[in-house]
Amino acid sequence: MTTSSTPDTIVAPRAPSLFVSHGSPMFAVEPGLLGPRLQALGRLLSGIGAIAVVSPHWQTRGVRVSTALAPDTIHDFGGFPGVLYSLLYHPPGAPQLAREAAMRLSEAGFEVTLDENRGLDHGAWVPLRYLRSDAAIPVFQISLPYDIDVDGALQLGRALKPLRDSGVLVLGSGSLTHNLYEFRRPGIDVGYAQQFADWVHEAVQRGDVEALLQYRQRAPHAERAHPTQEHYLPLLVALGASDDGEPARRIVGGMTYGVLSMDSFGWGLPDEAHRDAGVAA
Ligand code: ZN
Repeated sequence: MTTSSTPDTIVAPRAPSLFVSHGSPMFAVEPGLLGPRLQALGRLLSGIGAIAVVSPHWQTRGVRVSTALAPDTIHDFGGFPGVLYSLLYHPPGAPQLAREAAMRLSEAGFEVTLDENRGLDHGAWVPLRYLRSDAAIPVFQISLPYDIDVDGALQLGRALKPLRDSGVLVLGSGSLTHNLYEFRRPGIDVGYAQQFADWVHEAVQRGDVEALLQYRQRAPHAERAHPTQEHYLPLLVALGASDDGEPARRIVGGMTYGVLSMDSFGWGLPDEAHRDAGVAA
């Protein structure tokens, strides 16, 4: 990340692109390995003007972009302990940057609608409470179209990439593995989830976009790790918002509940993240 300034111009540092595994809603109260690492990373972020979040918990016809001035906290889950429903996250919205994102998505061929009421779903606010507990950075959300495929998710990320130069952190929030049928189920062989997570890590490190697009054919246990692929697609959004060959770093999040990998990836992370407290490897 570079910062340059002269008396006449201030060039903001380029914001990172991030894929974060949000796992189960319980991540909100069970930080595990990833929570403190996101907190440490958040302290290193500077010059970020806004965070644009793409989460599978907002799926719509076409793409919707939230221009809410003060997005609400949406508790879009059921059957969890009461404390989860009392947690709030109230950053300012970023309507102007949201409109710029919408324009870029529209230019890239997406059917885009603005939504001035939409708040933040748990795919957004749960990891953001770790990354920026002060809620000081404006946040806006971008939906995932119901019918989007792997190529579409990559294109969505590519359309958002120029926003990084305007200080917008692109955050794809999903889960590196996401088989909820096996969540907390005792007695099953869960080694497959780590094998899948390791395969993805190696492909990300190689910058192997083709392999990551064809993961269902090429990765071990892909269909078991993702019975449906909406929690994988945000990885492709974050990848799409990276440059060809831009080095990726893994933020090790470990495995939760036996089968939910919390591993996350960042492109364009601050240099300190590579040295500081093992934020990124
Ligand atoms: Zn989720």
